[in-house]
Formats: sequence, C-alpha cells, structure tokens
Amino acid sequence: MVRQDDVLRLIEEQFQEWPVLQERYSALERIRVKEISLGAAYVKVQFNPERVLSSSARTDCASLEQRPCFLCDTNRPKEQRGLPWGRDYQILVNPYPIFPCHLTIPSITHVPQKIHSRFADMLELAALLPAFVVFYNGPECGASAPDHFHFQAGNRGILPVEQEWKGFEKEILCLSSGAWVGITFCCSRSLWLMQSADELELTRLFGLLYDLLPCGRNVSEPRMNLLVWYDQPWWTVCLFPRVKHRPSFYGTSEGELLVSPGAVDMGGLVITPLERDFERISSNDIRNMYKEVSMDSFWVERMLHELKKSIWKQNV
Ligand SMILES: [Zn+2]
Repeated sequence: MVRQDDVLRLIEEQFQEWPVLQERYSALERIRVKEISLGAAYVKVQFNPERVLSSSARTDCASLEQRPCFLCDTNRPKEQRGLPWGRDYQILVNPYPIFPCHLTIPSITHVPQKIHSRFADMLELAALLPAFVVFYNGPECGASAPDHFHFQAGNRGILPVEQEWKGFEKEILCLSSGAWVGITFCCSRSLWLMQSADELELTRLFGLLYDLLPCGRNVSEPRMNLLVWYDQPWWTVCLFPRVKHRPSFYGTSEGELLVSPGAVDMGGLVITPLERDFERISSNDIRNMYKEVSMDSFWVERMLHELKKSIWKQNV
C-alpha cells in the first residue's frame, strides 16, 4: 500500500535522478509572488514563466489529436518515474511546478477527463496525502490535457481559500449525520463547500450537486474545479461551478492578460506566465476574471433550491 512517505521519497529521488526537474523546483523558490486584496479575501499572484505552455494550451479536439499526449506513458520524459496507486493511477512529480511539491496523478490509460465515477478516488487520494491539497480541473476549466484523466496535488497552506473559507458568508444545509453542504459568493466567485467524515456520504452529496449542475454544449461534463483536503477524520471539498474556460480578456495582445484559471487560480493563487501581466494585473482584473468564468448567483440559487428538495426527498 502506498503511503505519503513513499510519495515524499519519490519526490526526493526524482530530484536526484532528473537534473532539469531539480532546476525547475529551485527556480520556483526564486520566483516573484505578490498579494492583492479583493476586500473580503486576498489572492496571491505568482509570476511563473514555466507555466506558459499550460496557460496557452490549445484544448480543442483537433489540436489535442495532433499532439502527443504528455500524460501517456510512452510520451513522458524517460527520467519520469511513477508510483502505481489505486485502481488505475500513477503518482508523478509535475515537471512544471506551481507548488514546492507538485504532483500529477494520471490514469494509466488515455481516457477523458471526467470526474463523475472518480470522485471517491479523489477523497481517497486526499486521505492518503494529508500534507497536500488534491485538485481537479474539468475540461475547459484549466485542464491542459482534457483527453487524459488526471488529478493534481500541491502543498497545504499555500492556497488562500484553504484558510479563508471559514470566514466567508455562506448559507449552509446541515445534515443529520454531521455533514454539511453550503454555498458562498466571495469576490465574484461562487463556491460550493462540503464537509464530512463519511466518504460515502460526501460522494453522494457530490453526486447530487453534479446532477444539478448544467452541462454546456460540446462539453462532456458540467464545468467545474475541485479542491479537496483532509484533516482526519474530515474531508473539506470546494467545488467552483464554472461557465467559461477563459475570460474575454485572455490573450497576449495589448490590453489582454494570459490567465487561464484552473482550481489553483480559483483557490486564490493566480498564475501569470508573462512578467508584463504579473506587473499590471489589478484587483479589478481578478474580480472580472472570477465573475466571467464563475456560475452566477441566479443559477446557483436555483441549484440551492433544487438541492434542498433532493436532500429532503432522499433524507440524506
Ligand atoms: Zn494520454
């Protein structure tokens, strides 16, 4: 059985075996980070030039078919070793880090990014790695390989939302079992929060939310980003319902910003691969980005209404 210590050992060994990897993680220690207040919350902005490929990745079907998939075993760097875990996963060290310890956990087979039947795996992964936040970027929500299923994980204590969520004003539905689900709107983001010590119940709650999320045209599942972390015996889940892949001002021209928000950015760590963007991005830009890509309060309130009915019916 894989334990967190095995994963930490893998990271150390990969640094020794793979010089480029160590260079990239050393460079991460020197990159610039600044904090921007949004009033009720704050975000960190990270200038990370190595993430330019991810932020500018073309994720349309034609582009995906033309490129070799970087998560498939046969196309990965020869130095990259993985730890087999769970039903069909490998735990890998991410060669383009955002976190001091950054993992990618792909399926061993080339199957699409679809969370529905894998949410319970995400909870198990978070319990296996309590020093990490496990995250999931849905297709058109920050995943640069939407054709190959993968989770990611990064160190706890870095994403602002991990500390701030308790202070957000929220409407909460408490369940008799001690679990709860709630909705909050913070700085133009809508965010579903869930907590439970019961894996099955949390999976069922996620299923209820999943079924209520509208699924846009040409996407294989409702748009979302997920963050999960584990403080024994409690899991905390953040679900950011999304309506859009990238903001209207996404780009590299004058007046545009190269920001492609995924779970990390929604959690308050905004990645800018271009230094010019890092210098000029403002609190308004970040609010506008959140507003454009997040589900608006009208739809979320409708979801809440339906969720109350479902919970009452199922008597969860
Ligand atoms: Zn693949």
